[in-house]
Amino acid sequence: MRQKLVAGNWKMHGSLDENQALLNELRIALADMRNMACAVCVPSPYLAQTQSVLADSPIGWGAQNMSEYAKGAYTGEVSASMLLDFGCHYVIIGHSERRALYGETDQVVAAKFAAAIKAGLTPILCVGETLAEREADMAESVIARQLDAVLAVSGMAGMAQAVIAYEPVWAIGTGKTASPAQAQAVHAFIRQKLAVQDADIAERLVIQYGGSVKAANAAELFSQPDIDGGLIGGASLVADEFVAICKAAQS
Ligand code: PEP
Repeated sequence: MRQKLVAGNWKMHGSLDENQALLNELRIALADMRNMACAVCVPSPYLAQTQSVLADSPIGWGAQNMSEYAKGAYTGEVSASMLLDFGCHYVIIGHSERRALYGETDQVVAAKFAAAIKAGLTPILCVGETLAEREADMAESVIARQLDAVLAVSGMAGMAQAVIAYEPVWAIGTGKTASPAQAQAVHAFIRQKLAVQDADIAERLVIQYGGSVKAANAAELFSQPDIDGGLIGGASLVADEFVAICKAAQS
C-alpha cells in the first residue's frame, strides 16, 4: 500500500516574515496527520528557517533544485550535501520551469537525479508534456523519453528511491487541471512503463500529480488508483488550502 505524499513547491515566493507565519500554521494544523506524508520545498535561502520551525513536526522539507556536481567552481549553485546540512529530505528535480527557463535537458536532469540519489536525498522527478505535445498526441512519448533519460543513468534502483510528479505543463499555474481521468491515464502509463523493468518497484513508486491542484479538486484527483498525492504550487502558499489538500490525501 503506497502512502500518499503532498509536497508544496513554493517557487520563488516568500520572505522571513511570510514564511514564519505560513510554517507555523502548517506545523500546528498538520501536527497529527496520519497515513500520509507532507513536505514543503522552499527557496534555498529559507532552508535554515524551515528546518528550525519544522524540526519537531511530521512535515518534511526540501529544495527546488540542486547542482549535479558535488563541489567546485559553479557560481550560484547549491550541492546535495549543502541541502543535507539543512536537513532536507526532498529535492525537486527537472521541474518544467527549470527545463523551459534554464535549459535543463533530459541529460542534465538525469545527472541531477543521480547526484540526489547518491547523496541520500529523495528526488521528486517532474515529467510532463506541453500543450502542443498533448495536442500532437505525444504526451506518452515525451514522458517516456524523460523517464528513459533518468533510467539510463540511475536504473530502477534509482527509481526505487524517488518520487515522480506528473505535471502537465499546460496545467501548471494556469488554473487548468487535468481531469482526474486524464491524469489517471498518464499515471497508469508511467507505472506500467516502469513495471516492465521491475513490477515491485513500480507498484511501490509514489507518483504525484501536479498542476493547479487546490482544495476543491484534490480529493477527486487523489481518489484515482495511480495518483499518490500531489505537488502543489500556488495553493501551497495559502495555509488553509495546503492543509485542506493534505487532509484530502489522508482521507
Ligand atoms: C508546480 O509548480 O509544481 C505546480 C504544480 O504549480 P501550480 O500548483 O501552481 O499549478
